Amino acid sequence: MSVLDENIGKASDYMAGFREKGVLNHIGGESVPAVSGAMFETVSPVDMSVLAQVAKGAEEDIDRAVAAAKGAFADWSKMPGAERRRILIKVAEAIEARAEEIAFTECMDTGQALRFMSKAAIRGAANFRFFADQAPSAEDGQVTRTPTQMNTTSRRPIGPVGVITPWNTPFMLSTWKIAPALAAGCTVVHKPAEFSPMTAKLLVEIAESAGLPKGVLNVVNGFGEDAGKRLTEHPDIKAIAFVGESRTGSLIMAQGAKTLKRVHFELGGKNPVIVFDDADLDRAVDAAAFMIYSLNGERCTSSSRLLVQESIYDDFTARVAEVAKRIKVGHPLDPETVVGPLIHPEHEEKVLSYFEKAREEGATIAAGGEKIGDQGCFVAPTLFTAATNDMTVAQEEIFGPVLTAIPFTDEDDALSIANDVQYGLAAYLWTNDLNRAMRMTDNLQAGMMWVNSENVRHLPTPFGGVKASGIGRDGGDWSFDFYMETVNVSFPRASHKIPKLGG
Ligand code: NAD
Repeated sequence: MSVLDENIGKASDYMAGFREKGVLNHIGGESVPAVSGAMFETVSPVDMSVLAQVAKGAEEDIDRAVAAAKGAFADWSKMPGAERRRILIKVAEAIEARAEEIAFTECMDTGQALRFMSKAAIRGAANFRFFADQAPSAEDGQVTRTPTQMNTTSRRPIGPVGVITPWNTPFMLSTWKIAPALAAGCTVVHKPAEFSPMTAKLLVEIAESAGLPKGVLNVVNGFGEDAGKRLTEHPDIKAIAFVGESRTGSLIMAQGAKTLKRVHFELGGKNPVIVFDDADLDRAVDAAAFMIYSLNGERCTSSSRLLVQESIYDDFTARVAEVAKRIKVGHPLDPETVVGPLIHPEHEEKVLSYFEKAREEGATIAAGGEKIGDQGCFVAPTLFTAATNDMTVAQEEIFGPVLTAIPFTDEDDALSIANDVQYGLAAYLWTNDLNRAMRMTDNLQAGMMWVNSENVRHLPTPFGGVKASGIGRDGGDWSFDFYMETVNVSFPRASHKIPKLGG
């Protein structure tokens, strides 16, 4: 039996429970169907087979989940941080113990390749460990003194929060939002993306089996316009942590306005990788290709615009095209696969429409530019050359393994092209000139920049974007600032003069 066949068999075994019982909501520690009884299908983009029926939550399900989160808040938020830490470390261990199940399920539900997803659970567990370790000190603040007063600040968990996540790498992303919320003492209602509901259910089950009290984490499946919308409007939800498209972020901001919702947005990107002719070009080729063709290009920080200095443009893009043509596209559970199927036929159609658009607007298709096979959502790793920054394929987030290469003349030209998009999530810069790197990073409009490196994550650093790419930062202590309220209490150090009025 081939490794692929063996993996397909294992995945089928792992998902048997979902096939038989469906992917139910999880409220107050119980697996429950939607109040209406409605279900929808989750299909595998590998072959469009139905993986499971999913509870189609709506307003009443969100209301129940919020009531559960509100009920659990008093105990969870008052639990000593060290005790929350102990439980969350156990959650991390339980995630690691089921890493293969999480990875295989995620591959089948999303189409992401196993070579990347095998690390998803490990990274998810790392998120839990990192934020758990900060739970004991999350409340800490500072003391500031005047001659007469002593001010003490501290932080308190804001309350039950809503977490709304997208379908690309859903497990890892969910832990990135949920772990700090729980470590801060908040309780959570999670609304996973409708295209990829499975691993959110695994997460809550794993967390409760590791000791997370019932009601602290609740999951309601369903669509954005009903379940998602209600969550953002619910008066008992104090903040919404959202990861998804920029235009959904705008909707959520409007929906949350009436209840003055605090929002944290991690949104879209059209991130440039800028390559100067003095760079280490061998490394730059590998990094540029990795950052667009890994994770199916369905990655907010993907380097989807390749800006190359004119003098090396033809040679460099030819090398990237060669890499793109050699990449193995295939079944996500094949260990050799780099690019799996895109998440869903709707998304595939969107990505394919850009191939047409690029041709119409005069770009050259140097690699890919076509669908592969007639079963499943497979598209070829694609490179557009001879592109200009005003083309649709240079401006819009395609969210697939599709790279648009644009030449530039000098630093000023590179900067103006790099910044001339609505987004500002990440930027990658390749040059061996330190002064140039300083000038460029001072002026690039991006929340995160990597010099001569691909996206090497470090959890204590701030993660987030500027412009249409987001509001707020995650990572380090920034996550706690979002999930907690800072309060100040002032005590007298001496008997200061209080003005007497009316006497
Ligand atoms: P999406 O915005 O369509 O959906 C994301 C989530 O929002 C889903 O759970 C959906 O059901 C929900 N939703 C939709 N409409 C809603 C509404 N009106 N009210 C409340 N919830 C609603 O995004 P997607 O297509 O699932 O994901 C891809 C997008 O996510 C890309 O733009 C990508 O760049 C972005 N993303 C950003 C980051 C980041 O860190 N910046 C990370 C990953 C993905």
